[in-house]
Amino acid sequence: MALARNIIDIAVAAAEKEKADRIIGVNVVVGELRGIIPAQLIFCFGLMSENTLAAGAHLNLETRPLLGRCRTCQEDFAVKDYMYVCPRCEGQDIEIVSGTELRVRDIEVE
Ligand SMILES: [Zn+2]
Repeated sequence: MALARNIIDIAVAAAEKEKADRIIGVNVVVGELRGIIPAQLIFCFGLMSENTLAAGAHLNLETRPLLGRCRTCQEDFAVKDYMYVCPRCEGQDIEIVSGTELRVRDIEVE
């Protein structure tokens, strides 16, 4: 719920800055590690955007997979089932390079 509120606040602030009449769509980049349930977020967004510039706007979620990088051999790989082990050298010194992001990429207004 708080997340939907945040997205609406960011989108409305951006739309007001552009002096837009209303928001048609909001594009959000969300990492897999955030554990967001898209249907639930879209539902909350629809509910909470009523009576704001974002009322009726389409929420588009762009999910990013969880990617790790081995600090030992520099291999990039998709992390499955939270197994932070390098598939190439079996190293466990892993850095997360993608999958934790959460940001409003852009909005569509009219
Ligand atoms: Zn490695």
